[in-house]
Amino acid sequence: MPIAAPIGDGIFQIPVPITDNPLGHTLVYAMESPGGLVLVDAGWDDENGWNGLQQGLADIGHSVQDVEGVVLTHFHPDHVGLCGRVREASGAWIAMHEADYAMFDGMVTPRDSAWMSGQRENVLRAGASQEEAAPFGVAAGDPPTTAASTPDRTLADDEVVPLAGRGLRVVYTPGHTPGHVCFYLEDADVMFTGDHVLQKTTPHVGNFVYPLEERDALAEFMDSLRRVQSMDVTRGLGAHGIPLDNVAGRAGELLDHHEERLSLLVDAFGDEQLTLWQAASRMKWYKPWDAIAPLGKSMALSEAAAHVRHLVARDEIAQVPGTEPVRFARTR
Ligand SMILES: [Zn+2]
Ligand SMILES: [Zn+2]
Repeated sequence: MPIAAPIGDGIFQIPVPITDNPLGHTLVYAMESPGGLVLVDAGWDDENGWNGLQQGLADIGHSVQDVEGVVLTHFHPDHVGLCGRVREASGAWIAMHEADYAMFDGMVTPRDSAWMSGQRENVLRAGASQEEAAPFGVAAGDPPTTAASTPDRTLADDEVVPLAGRGLRVVYTPGHTPGHVCFYLEDADVMFTGDHVLQKTTPHVGNFVYPLEERDALAEFMDSLRRVQSMDVTRGLGAHGIPLDNVAGRAGELLDHHEERLSLLVDAFGDEQLTLWQAASRMKWYKPWDAIAPLGKSMALSEAAAHVRHLVARDEIAQVPGTEPVRFARTR
């Protein structure tokens, strides 16, 4: 179990556990400023996470009451979850980019039977058989985040969050989510990269599966990688894994990775017409397609949809008219 540790420049890393999740932890960063502590992200909301955050703050000589504000890189529950409890304990403000603020409702929607059957319907419309779709949408539960974590401020690109004595610049990096931001701490020349650039893993980039969205998430993500690359920052602190020693270089690797995945996917089509489900099953994942659990498959499916969506934008793949479930084929 990693413990809270100083990074230098008045920055501390606090690993907040994500129960039963292979990611293991969200790395929350605490920054000292004359007004108190500012947290970058807050961690997953359950007792395990809350204890981890409080223990981590104690390890660095602080308590949750010292938190002045929480800036969120994006709306995912492993980042947003605990900020409601932090605000309740300390009166801290919570800030998030306006485009992700608009997504927040989706995280607090009850996972009731209607929501679950919607999940199964999406998989069927993507081309899964009844049998393949059966494991989807069977376990309703609580939404991953509650309205208590609703941010009270929105952030805009290039805004400098005023922390007495320190400037934290908002760098809008949509892709992983529509309103993902990184934060650049000017006095320390370090970038908090959230889930945009990670040292060891490739961040998830997905599109909704049905209907295929207008939004081209992969184009956004790749543009945001180029933006970070052009800023030429070296030191980076991501939300999972280990620190980045070359943010720009890693952004370049991620760009290459997606270019390769795109061209492998075009090859996988051959001269066939494929549903999104089939396209996903032919992509390379961390384990064979048939061995991936339903949650992993739905993440993979949305990632496949993002790649197909982007290949449609590049005019390499097109929807075959009149097919149901929708099929796609190479244009040349
Ligand atoms: Zn995320
Ligand atoms: Zn995350």
